[in-house]
Amino acid sequence: MVKLPEGRGKELFRKYGVPVPSGVVVASAEEAERAVRAGTVPLPCVVKAQVLVGGRGKGGAVRFASTPEETRAAAAAILGSSFQGETVRAVLLEEKVAIARELYVSFALDRSLRVPILMTSARGGVEIESVGDTEIDRQPIDPFPGLVAYERRRAAQSLGLTGPLAGELDRLLGGLYRLFDREDAELVEVNPLAVVGDKLLALDAKVIIEDDAAFRHPEYAAVRDDRTPLEEIAREKDIAFVQLDGNIGVIANGAGLTMATLDVLKEFGGAPGVFLDLGGTDDPKKVSEAFLLMAQAKPKAVFLNIFGGVTRCDTVANGLVAALGSVPAAERFPLVARIRGNNEAEGIAILRAAGVTSVPDLRSSAQAVVAAAKEAR
Ligand code: GDP
Ligand code: MN
Repeated sequence: MVKLPEGRGKELFRKYGVPVPSGVVVASAEEAERAVRAGTVPLPCVVKAQVLVGGRGKGGAVRFASTPEETRAAAAAILGSSFQGETVRAVLLEEKVAIARELYVSFALDRSLRVPILMTSARGGVEIESVGDTEIDRQPIDPFPGLVAYERRRAAQSLGLTGPLAGELDRLLGGLYRLFDREDAELVEVNPLAVVGDKLLALDAKVIIEDDAAFRHPEYAAVRDDRTPLEEIAREKDIAFVQLDGNIGVIANGAGLTMATLDVLKEFGGAPGVFLDLGGTDDPKKVSEAFLLMAQAKPKAVFLNIFGGVTRCDTVANGLVAALGSVPAAERFPLVARIRGNNEAEGIAILRAAGVTSVPDLRSSAQAVVAAAKEAR
């Protein structure tokens, strides 16, 4: 997932004609003070932490300043601090505007309808998850004609905008939709969209580029802040590897089996900490690489759940045994295997020879790995 920082999102907004306050991203308190002294950012201003998580307003990561000294102090207080586990390395300085109303507007990809959806709400400025369903208007957009006039008018109505403000919204939605479409976004969210006099201004920008379209956008290649270092290595090696909050490692093949494995572990009180989807591969070298990456995530126990369909159980087992040998003794962890399907008997024999027993039943193998993780604590 390529999630753009707010400052980057607003650059895109400008490019597509979506009005944003004038502002600049800086990385130090001195730079912040200089920017307001030089008049690059008018006072009073807003100082906003450039982190990828939301809720900055409530969390003290959005501050206001009316003098160069206050700007410097606000930037100094935010920079280098940790906001929900993310270190703040840059702040966005922006002209502070007088907000009359805070609205919500977004385009998102609706995966069940398989079309973009326009969401609008007059209750902007709060997290959209906390807004009641009846207070959000949802319009599926047919991607072939794109966003049409009556959809824009309905959006204006749902937001209670009339006259010049409705005209502003019309242009703004056109720009946002074009951005969503041309940049291959899966989400473009403006919250809040502020009414300032007879103008509309996007005060916040959340843009997520669809990962599957990333190859069309090399310009976002450097925006990988949401990946852990191990996930980054995995991506380069083309391994589906995701880190979670728990302590059990999961190696499975295919998204369906991988998700089901996570569910079963949860059901038995386990907490998956990292999962690895081998997909259709049974290339021993690839399996081995993937396994060593898993070892680096330091799981308390690992559950190997393989279904041999296209992949053969024995080749997966061979890759795994090769990898097991190269994990340093100090980093070993209990391993519970369940390996079924194509060449199952051969696979089980290879594992057994290496000291790993395969438990055929899903529930008992899940229980065994949960117990092993508890003991290892
Ligand atoms: P988030 O909390 O991480 O989503 O950060 P936002 O960019 O949405 O900012 C949070 C809140 O700060 C907004 O809902 C506004 O109420 C307030 N805010 C942001 N910019 C301005 C501004 O220019 N003027 C005023 N008065 N408030 C602002
Ligand atoms: Mn916001």
